[in-house]
Amino acid sequence: MFRYQIIPVTAFAQNCSLLWDDAASAPHEAAVIDPGGDLDRVLAQAKRLDLKIAQIWLTHGHIDHVGAAGALSRQLRIPIIGPHQGDANLIATLPWQGAMFGLPSAEIFTPARWLVDGDTVELAGQAIVVRHCPGHTPGHVVFHVPQIERAFVGDVLFAGSIGRTDLPGGNHQQLIDSITTRLWPMGDATVFIPGHGPESTLGQERRNNPFVREARA
Ligand SMILES: [Zn+2]
Ligand SMILES: [Zn+2]
Repeated sequence: MFRYQIIPVTAFAQNCSLLWDDAASAPHEAAVIDPGGDLDRVLAQAKRLDLKIAQIWLTHGHIDHVGAAGALSRQLRIPIIGPHQGDANLIATLPWQGAMFGLPSAEIFTPARWLVDGDTVELAGQAIVVRHCPGHTPGHVVFHVPQIERAFVGDVLFAGSIGRTDLPGGNHQQLIDSITTRLWPMGDATVFIPGHGPESTLGQERRNNPFVREARA
């Protein structure tokens, strides 16, 4: 059974997450999603939960999501997986993003694997589905864990809101299309973990989120 724990990191309270399967014996193999910063806290939490972080998965190239990925990859000698190659240019600007967003500078890295829509990533022998959801950034991906009806959606969708599209590479219509064609099919009951703020369900947002709710007759 997959379990996860959210650790808000950086001044932007970005929801870094640890995901692991507790079926096998401890230490459990874990993936860390969007290690934006505060590595000491992420590593302390992993230790407390008896996890062995084996992979880094990234939703998109903004510094609050990937700021510590390079350092963590080097420190633990583990691969960085994702996002989609559309965010390669964004990752190349990491040293400047720090100044732009008022965060410590971050090192540039090259993912071991870029992801495309429909890919799967594997944790503890189980497949997690990757969807490409451009709009907030060109290479944004989300990680769908159907086994526990969860989706880690980064800055695509929030409880009551949607991702910004005024940053470089943003595209409002593309974001709306990503949400309606790639998130909604995951099902109303799916709980999503956004990049910032509280969890919600896709059904709740499909009915009530003013940016993407479906028109009713
Ligand atoms: Zn972002
Ligand atoms: Zn963010």
